[in-house]
Amino acid sequence: MAKLQAVRGMHDILMHETPNWEFLEKSIRFTLNQYCYKEIRLPILEKTELFKHAIGDNTDIVSKEMYSFEDKNKSSLTLRPEGTASCVRAGIEHGLFYNQIQRLWYMGPMFRYEKPQKGRQRQFHQLGVEAFGLSGPDIDAEQIMMCDRMWKQLKIKNINLQINSLGTPESRLNYRNILVDYFSSNRNDLDEDSLIRLEKNPLRILDSKNPDMKSLIKNAPNISEYLDIESADHFAELRELLDHANIKYNTDSKLVRGLDYYGKTVYEWTTRELGAQDTVCAGGRYDDLIKNHGSSPTPAIGFAIGIERLLELVDLENVVAKNTPHVYLLIAGDEARKFGLLLAEEVRNQLPNVKILTNCGGGSLKNQFKKADKSGAEIALILGENELERKQLTVKYLRDEKPQVTIKYSEISNFLSKALSI
Ligand code: ATP
Ligand code: MG
Repeated sequence: MAKLQAVRGMHDILMHETPNWEFLEKSIRFTLNQYCYKEIRLPILEKTELFKHAIGDNTDIVSKEMYSFEDKNKSSLTLRPEGTASCVRAGIEHGLFYNQIQRLWYMGPMFRYEKPQKGRQRQFHQLGVEAFGLSGPDIDAEQIMMCDRMWKQLKIKNINLQINSLGTPESRLNYRNILVDYFSSNRNDLDEDSLIRLEKNPLRILDSKNPDMKSLIKNAPNISEYLDIESADHFAELRELLDHANIKYNTDSKLVRGLDYYGKTVYEWTTRELGAQDTVCAGGRYDDLIKNHGSSPTPAIGFAIGIERLLELVDLENVVAKNTPHVYLLIAGDEARKFGLLLAEEVRNQLPNVKILTNCGGGSLKNQFKKADKSGAEIALILGENELERKQLTVKYLRDEKPQVTIKYSEISNFLSKALSI
């Protein structure tokens, strides 16, 4: 049999990493709660149609990055590449958008068939945040302020905000034509990828990462000059709100997003600390998406944070592994084994916050002490035949010089609660 290996680009998150994830998730949830966002949990599989319709056939995601397959019923299903489409589907399906404002979030794995590299996996995790039913720039500003608060809460510095407006579908179409004219007249300078995009999704040429395309893109017409009045006003008001909140940003009129559903406000938070994959968070408005799914028009805006990239930016040095035991129970002999398991249960009943690890699997006391030490526990409780006879336990402190003591069974909870200050 071939060597056992995870699927390329999909990673195990091992025990020494999970405390970091928990720390990050807790911090994020804390901030989300401050803004009264509610969690929604969505399936990981959806009908392929949903993503094609929402994200757009000519996007990179739909045209080449989706994990799609037929199930036994011959329906085409796809592992979600992002969360907004599912969130919108759920909102429509459960009638969450009728005359209601919703502030929602979700977190979990996303799947894209991309070239694996630093900061780019095929299974990665996102926090998605969406607000439905609000059309004004105040919610745009509030979401950006929430991101800013998350960075501060996590003590992340050196993170920069780029904002742009993509206008309404009509003004975007107008700009698209102007852009096609520009790039067509510079066709010889376009790389292979951009030639395809010119046909299918010309705005995406602006998003090219190819350094040879830089000056051509720099000199391209700016979308800001073609914005409709409504979008220009919305964008100006947003900038005013951000200025007022003292949030620094750059206006980048070449910023486009990779998904078709965006219009008006779009933004990205980037950092210089991650190398080539420098976007940690990306978001924007998608006022037409719900209407395009045949439901009554509902304005919406959201963003997604790449958790793996965010983790790279957080100083995790002081995050403690939460599953280090307080107490290690050494058990010597068959009789002691029966009783030891019950004793540990009693400690859990009496002191729910104490983490007690029992020595399952036997072994000499010497060997058990080694395990106790390795576990990181502060206190070793020893239950051998002598102790069993006297209904006692021997207590050894593993991390400091205090002398060994014996305690009665009945004293165990009292003793541990004092010794551990729990
Ligand atoms: P990029 O330009 O880096 O490909 P994107 O525009 O495809 O990102 P979105 O679809 O908006 O990204 O997703 C939001 C965030 O999710 C990104 O900013 C990034 O932090 C993260 N992300 C996206 N794709 C991946 C991936 N393949 N691996 C790890 N993180 C990812
Ligand atoms: Mg991408």
